[in-house]
Amino acid sequence: MSRILVLYTGGTIGMDHTPEGLAPVPGLLPRLLQRFERPGLEFDIVEFAQLIDSSAITPRQWNEIIDALVSRYAQYDGFVVIHGTDTMAYTASVLAFALQGLAKPVVLTGAQLPLVHPRSDGWANLADAFEAACQPDLHEVAIAFNRLLLRGCRARKLDVEHFDGFNSPNAEPLAEFAIHAHWRRDRWLKQDGGWRPQRVNEELKLAALMLTPGYGSAWAGRALQSGELDGAIVLSYGSGNAPADPALLDGIAAMTARGCPVLTLTQVVKGAVEVGAYAASQPLARAGALPGGDLTPEAALAKLHVLLSAAPSAAALREALACSLRGEITL
Ligand code: ASP
Repeated sequence: MSRILVLYTGGTIGMDHTPEGLAPVPGLLPRLLQRFERPGLEFDIVEFAQLIDSSAITPRQWNEIIDALVSRYAQYDGFVVIHGTDTMAYTASVLAFALQGLAKPVVLTGAQLPLVHPRSDGWANLADAFEAACQPDLHEVAIAFNRLLLRGCRARKLDVEHFDGFNSPNAEPLAEFAIHAHWRRDRWLKQDGGWRPQRVNEELKLAALMLTPGYGSAWAGRALQSGELDGAIVLSYGSGNAPADPALLDGIAAMTARGCPVLTLTQVVKGAVEVGAYAASQPLARAGALPGGDLTPEAALAKLHVLLSAAPSAAALREALACSLRGEITL
């Protein structure tokens, strides 16, 4: 017998047509989920008081999800988090870093078409999410979508039209669902240490700045120099290259001097930042930016947010950023 807790936060999957367009309808999804009742599976549903389109998510909702899960952690064998697809990769990444020492499955899912639509992809996604949440040796946060199980802190939303909305460009899937479920257990994380979940600091000011040719790098530099940010991600070109724009480099140096991390990622979907591959990657590193390897922007933001929430020493922060905490980066 598996006991699963379903946390329903909102998203297309439970939406219906309203005069304003698609919107979440309270009570609808819990009613539809009755279809999954079967011998050997018991589940309870917590419907959040404010069901949201996930584009509206903030650190406050991340804490609500963390609190809901942590307060019932001992009572259930696994967790399914129903979430909008727009920011599912951010929430999955935050949970991956916040739920330290996780020893149960936490599986996020949603849909491109609502369950009330005759061609909804939501039924298959939910079925796969339940199945994954019943695997006692899955000790990580994953996304079940379009017949794949992906590591949450590796996943990205890559398509708004087709049902293969998610993939993890720099990591192999954790499972593939066909006639049989093909569990790739050799890729699963091992539990690390005791259960020590952490909430996030809702006041932190983090941002990702995408470089664009022309004024874009100066603009990013001004944002970094404003003194407003607690940490930032610079989305550079190719394998970590950027123009040696003094405004950008001064911005990075100013952040670094204040003890606020700046991570360099690539704008490219697949591949990693590699300092030294090109001379054009060196100025960012010399100014103090830390190479983020093949972290996704979602995972990088989540990692910074969770790490900074614990107010670490500068040395501890650098060390944590350089290593793989939850399988989020290829070393
Ligand atoms: N806008 C929706 C959301 O993220 C999209 C979806 O769920 O597919 O809540």
